[in-house]
Amino acid sequence: MNKGKIEKKIVIGNWKMNPSNNKEALKLFTSISKLILNIKNTQIVVCPPVLYIENINKNLKKISLGAQDAFWGDVGAFTGQVSVKMLFSAGVKYIILGHSEKRAQGEENSEINKKIKAVLSLGITPVVCFGENNRDESHEYLNFVKVQIEEGLNGISKNLISKIVIAYEPVWAIGKSALREATPEEFREMSIFIKKILNDKFGAKNIVNIKIIYGGSVHPENTLSFLEEGKADGFLVGRDSLDAKKFIEIVNITENEIN
Ligand code: PEP
Repeated sequence: MNKGKIEKKIVIGNWKMNPSNNKEALKLFTSISKLILNIKNTQIVVCPPVLYIENINKNLKKISLGAQDAFWGDVGAFTGQVSVKMLFSAGVKYIILGHSEKRAQGEENSEINKKIKAVLSLGITPVVCFGENNRDESHEYLNFVKVQIEEGLNGISKNLISKIVIAYEPVWAIGKSALREATPEEFREMSIFIKKILNDKFGAKNIVNIKIIYGGSVHPENTLSFLEEGKADGFLVGRDSLDAKKFIEIVNITENEIN
């Protein structure tokens, strides 16, 4: 038995642009809440569309509230944007940044970097997504991820780096049109690679507690192998976060896995 302090794992649900109205959002959230039993070692986070956040915030119990993106400016002439400060005042504790679906709309590493700094400055936890679009035989994808990390985390102070949750999300493994899920070995390899980059940039002692989680077709059936063989610190879940039973099954498997 581990006598030291148990580091909490984390399971984050990214609802994306679902469900289609406030009532349905509250229904999904209530179903998830009702299924939560005795969870001590796992942080549960749900990230609904921003319009539903306020309603859900009135009903929080064992779940933390997250957002799917945020803008770095505080207030001002930024049409269509929602600032970190606004999300902070709405009770948001986690913000997903650099998701591949935002990157596909043109979001650059430099912009993600500004967002990370804004999020950290208010004490919110950034959940920053990194991952290659394809895996090539010549391993160029490793360099691609390295550049994403180096540019995305440029100028982050050493004492704040461990506040960030890193989500490795290979784009080819995400969503309905995924080629396949990653294997636990592929995740393990990448998380060691990411740790080496962070180690070189921020120093070993500053990254001991950093969480590296996996995202991309996570289902109850593959959860345990990512924890046991992949040594994942948790998950970023898309589709299965919209199914209360499956989401809580993923949470329970995570909670019961002992490292
Ligand atoms: C995601 O888009 O972040 C994701 C992990 O989606 P899914 O679980 O549906 O593959």
